[in-house]
Amino acid sequence: MPTYKARAIILKNYKLGEADRIVKMYSDEGHLISAVAKGCRKTRSRFRGRLELFCLVDLELSEGRNLDIIGQAEILNCFSDIPMDFYRFVFAEIISNVILRTQQSGDKNPSLFKLLYVCLNEIDKTEPEDVIGLKKILCFFEARFLQVTGLAPMLETCSRCNKSTADLYRLGNEKIGFSIDYGGVLCRECSPATGARVELNPSSYRLLVDLFRLKIEDLRSIEIDPYSLRKVCRLMEDYMVFHTYCTVNSFKYLKKIGI
Ligand SMILES: [Zn+2]
Repeated sequence: MPTYKARAIILKNYKLGEADRIVKMYSDEGHLISAVAKGCRKTRSRFRGRLELFCLVDLELSEGRNLDIIGQAEILNCFSDIPMDFYRFVFAEIISNVILRTQQSGDKNPSLFKLLYVCLNEIDKTEPEDVIGLKKILCFFEARFLQVTGLAPMLETCSRCNKSTADLYRLGNEKIGFSIDYGGVLCRECSPATGARVELNPSSYRLLVDLFRLKIEDLRSIEIDPYSLRKVCRLMEDYMVFHTYCTVNSFKYLKKIGI
């Protein structure tokens, strides 16, 4: 069987038969890999502790008829603080699920691997139970995910009539219309004419724009009022459900834990 090497982050693994596991990963070349780790659940398995969730691993694989088979696995970074905090784990799992739901086996998107790595690294470094910090990271992930997959919302021109935002609003205290269906902000004329729209106050709008232009370390340090963060998180989630293959279920854990 032909063999190959891969560097990948583990997104999901589950039991197969008596002793094996199926492992789903995202590689640094930007594609999904599904492979079997044979004998993985035996006490003396050479894979023991090496194929845990969110680990970055170097692998040797051989091509199988249906699923590839993992021959060797070496851990490069296991983001070991993620599983130590329930909230960190929940947010990391949502990000993994978004990738699993939206990426098909033939897709290739190396930028998405970088984004996944950056976000897991950032989640790993958050303080325990820092839900605000984790929500900022999730919003950042969603915004950049939309950018690298070509689905980013229009924030500088009206998404209905294409008028530039330079003359959209005087960004003082006016509310700004946003349409999930049209995929972006609405000008003053289009906003009242568009039924299902979200109204953003200036600080929510600024946060939305910042998500698409700031680096994660800059975003980490800016103060965000809880109202704007909640509003923008909700908007990003609804936008993802409407424009990608994510479903409401992809974010169900946020609701289950009441955030
Ligand atoms: Zn317009």
